[in-house]
Amino acid sequence: MTIVFATNNPNKIREVQNQLPDHIRLISLEAIGCLVDIPETQDTIAGNAIQKATYIKDHFGLDCFADDTGLEITALNGAPGVFSARYAGPQRNADDNMNLVLSRLQPKHDRTAQFKTVIALHFQGDLITFEGICKGKITETKRGTDGFGYDPIFQPANYKATFAELSMAEKNRIGHRGQAVAKLISYLNRH
Ligand code: IMP
Repeated sequence: MTIVFATNNPNKIREVQNQLPDHIRLISLEAIGCLVDIPETQDTIAGNAIQKATYIKDHFGLDCFADDTGLEITALNGAPGVFSARYAGPQRNADDNMNLVLSRLQPKHDRTAQFKTVIALHFQGDLITFEGICKGKITETKRGTDGFGYDPIFQPANYKATFAELSMAEKNRIGHRGQAVAKLISYLNRH
């Protein structure tokens, strides 16, 4: 079974493909010749995931899923949330984003945060969403070199390591995207 994963981020494709049974093969946007920036103009994480998956369904007629993720920081009233990718500006730079989070959190005591992923799936005529949440806190400094995005400053609950210090397998097991993907896989296995 082939399903489009509406992303061109090779890290994400590798992370998700890693958790799928062999008979489900993911193909990227590039592989289907979709070279445009798919609009992400909704004001919720779920809304953006649905918008992206629906764009592929409408333009290419293929079964498809899209994910959208945000880091929600309690003391920042849920920011950066839906703006996680471009929190520090349109350059979408992970270091700039992390530096901005660290400076805005400096005067705050509460460093709790969560990652939220929503996956929207168009499959055999149905549209379904799956949510995964990973609770944790923002560290004082960046630690670790693995992963991407905000991984060096996110320490999942009950762990001493940041996401960037954990193996990919461990991050997948406890992480937001891994949990949403587990629900997606369970759904696909039942259909
Ligand atoms: P997207 O919706 O997956 O593109 O993610 C939006 C933003 O959240 C991007 O800036 C990513 O770097 C960041 N992000 C998404 N997933 C993760 C993750 O697993 N760890 C750290 N940052 C992430």
